Formats: sequence, structure tokens, C-alpha cells
Amino acid sequence: MGRITLAAIRSVAMSTTYIRGGTVVSPTGSQALDVLIDGERIAALVDPELAPFGDPDRTFDRVLDASGRYVIPGGVDAHTHMEMPFGGTVASDTFETGTRAAAHGGTTTIIDFAIQRQGERVQDTLAAWHTKAAGNCAIDYGFHQILGGVDSDALKAMDELVAEGVTSFKLFMAYPGVYYSDDGQILRAMQQCASNGALTMMHAENGIAIDQLVAQHIERGETSPYYHGVSRPWELEEEATHRAIMLAKVTGAPLYVVHVSAKQAMEQIATARGRGANVFAETCPQYLYLSLEEQLGAAGFEGAKWVCSTPLRSREERHQDELWRYIRTGDVATVSTDHCPFCFKGQKEMGIDDFSKIPNGMAGVEHRIDLMYQGVVNGNLSLERWVDVCATTPARMFGLYPRKGIISPGADADVVIYDPNAHTSIGFDKTHHSNLDHSTWEGFEIDGGVQTVLSRGTVVVDRGQYLGGKGHGSYLKRGLSQYLI
Ligand SMILES: [Zn+2]
Repeated sequence: MGRITLAAIRSVAMSTTYIRGGTVVSPTGSQALDVLIDGERIAALVDPELAPFGDPDRTFDRVLDASGRYVIPGGVDAHTHMEMPFGGTVASDTFETGTRAAAHGGTTTIIDFAIQRQGERVQDTLAAWHTKAAGNCAIDYGFHQILGGVDSDALKAMDELVAEGVTSFKLFMAYPGVYYSDDGQILRAMQQCASNGALTMMHAENGIAIDQLVAQHIERGETSPYYHGVSRPWELEEEATHRAIMLAKVTGAPLYVVHVSAKQAMEQIATARGRGANVFAETCPQYLYLSLEEQLGAAGFEGAKWVCSTPLRSREERHQDELWRYIRTGDVATVSTDHCPFCFKGQKEMGIDDFSKIPNGMAGVEHRIDLMYQGVVNGNLSLERWVDVCATTPARMFGLYPRKGIISPGADADVVIYDPNAHTSIGFDKTHHSNLDHSTWEGFEIDGGVQTVLSRGTVVVDRGQYLGGKGHGSYLKRGLSQYLI
């Protein structure tokens, strides 16, 4: 920031974009600054009072007016599942449609999950995910690796993947017989992470106990989507979260607990953090806004749209309010979406007589920035914390900072112009770009809206119009988390 000379700009100029008149928001503050972009990167933040050039329209290739608007780093959604196989079907968004939806919503980076299962070679599964994504993404993307079969080959493969920029590994304490790892496997994988610097991500629910409860509900004829939530009680999220924290402590590995939905699980994480543990929590908009009673308990089979795991929690028990509070205290580090949409027709309907056959997941990648901005409107979050949980901390957590997650010289020019005076009505017939036959967020009214989205200097969305293209997004080889001890 500060005084720069026009000559200095011209000497390096490729194609220049100047964003003027806006308020740049970062985790540490908000300031009236113009943003100069040179090619794919941010070249400078310019105090508008000190700007050394005359008419920007004559000086730069493109000028974007951000007067009265926020200029924020493009969103980093660290938890998506495009084209994910689940329960005999596949998540309906491809890398092409899902990243286009993300771009519309102001997200310019996703980190998706490659999946290895028992008996598969980890490297082969990662290669398969590269094939799905390459040439198809509208925005940049990286990968985490799911390990569903931790054995000696998988453990060795982890080191190789870290060298290739896949620096986080997700394990499941849920889904026995599918992705489940037992405590011994978890311990071994965590030890490997402790030695190679990778981050362990955990789906923390006691799947062995849950499967018994599920079978009992089905046997009693309690087959509706509501019982998906009832069969996965918070006690079994809290217990698994605690167990994961203790296993991580024994191994010395840092731990990132994905999609925390129960306030008691958060209490475990906050307590561990208070004791000095390197434990981090992620939550998702669905756990902040939706509930067991209203969505899973909707009439008929409608609740299937919101079947996901961990499940939506009870509004009466105030999990949602507590999660907002934990975002404010910093114990929730990141807000991601767990974007994993399944169509109602033909996909969710697979479980019409048995909730356990409903594919787990919902859509969110397009609406996360808007939904979290409502936290600012409602007084639950500061502007700075909004940017922090949606972009900066996920970038730091997953080894993408300072290339992503911040508007700063040298960073990729992933920039969103966000209009606080806009109004966005979310709905299938209005703002909907996912390949999904309904909107997870139908009827949500948002104060604010995404105006313009740049990905590495290219305008990919402007006022609702998609100007990007598949193949613009490139693979991000990630470094190690900046939150390691
Ligand atoms: Zn997930």
C-alpha cells in the first residue's frame, strides 16, 4: 500500500484492472482502498487520496466501480464433493456445474475430496479425481484425500501425496463398511500426519453405535427422514469428537473436525483448545440455519432434501445459536459447505421407504458467502470475521495462503465485489446454478449480494451473468497448514 508510481506499474503491466471506490475487507480491518490487478495477481492496494494517476479509465485496461461496496477475497470453500459416489449414486454437481455455481456465489477456490476405499491404491484414486476435475473447473481447485482403507501402503502413500500438494487426509469414524476407520487405523494415520506435516480431518460420529440405532428405527417402522436425525444423537458426535481429540493428542497430530453440528461437540473442541490442543472446528451454514424440527421433520418425504451427516440438530436445544457463538469466539475456525447435492427425483427418493437409503448431502457452494453475510447483517459476525471464516482462515488452514484468502500485493486476483445494498432471493427459479432439481435454500432472503467475481484477474461473474468458462480453474498444489505446532 502507499504511493506507487505509474511508471512502475507500466513496466510490469500485462492486462491491468483497477477496482476503485470500494472498501477492502480483510480479517484485520476494513479500509477505503483501490485495488490494482496486473494480469492474474494483485499488484497494489492504493489509497484513493494518494493515487498517482489521472483518469484511471485512460490508464488501465479495465476499471470496475466498487463505490459503496465491499471488496473481499474470493471465497475458499474447503469442503465440497463434486461427482461424489455415495450409496449407489453420484452427487449431481459435476466439477463443471459445481464450480460454476460456486463462482456465482463468490467462491473462487474449492478443496474437494479424492476418495480411497479398502483395497484401492491411494495414488490411483487421486489420479481418478484429477481426471474428473482437469479442464472442467471454472475456478481453482485443490484436493484433500479421504482414506477409507488405512493399511501400510496407504500410510506410505500419504507422504507421496503431501509432496504433490495434497496435505490433508480425511478419516471417518462413521459409515462402517464404507469409509470407516477403527481407532487403530486412525492412530496410525495420525502418526503419519504428525511425521509428514499433514492435517488430519475427521468425520467424528460413532458410526458403529449409530448403525445399531438406525436398524432399530427401521425395524420399528420409523422410516421417515426425521429419524435420520434422531438415529444420530449428539451424544455420539460428542463422544467421537472427544475420542478423536484424545487420539490426536497421543500422536501429536493437529486435528481438524469437519462439519461440527452439535454444541456439545464444540464444547469438547473448545475445552481441548483451552488446554492447548491444536484442534480446529469447521461448521457449515446448514447447521447455523436449519434444524431437525423444521427441515428433517418437514411433511411427507420432503425432509430428505436435508439429510446429511452429521445431521441437522434440534432448534429447541439451541445448537444453532451456540455455533454462531463459537464462530465469534474463534473456536469455529472455518465455515465450509460440505456441498454434496442429490436430486430429489431418483436420488433422494431411493430412501422413500427407508431413511438410511437416502443419499447424504445437500447444496451450499453457491450460497455460503451470502448466508454468512447474514451473520453480519444480524449482528452475529463482524465484517472482518465474515471474510476470515469464509476465505482467509480456510486458505491458511489448508496451505493456500497468501496466494488465496487475502487481498494483498502478490496474491492471486481472486476478488469479489459485494454489494451490501443488494437483495438476493434464493430459489430454484431465481438464483440457482447447481445441477440439482430443487434448491436446498429455497425461500431464503438475503440482504446483500455478489456483484462481480474475479478469478485470477478474469471476471467470471458480473451482475448474475456468467462470463467464465470451464478449464479456467487450475489445480492448486497446496503447502502445509499454517496452523501446525
Ligand atoms: Zn463431506
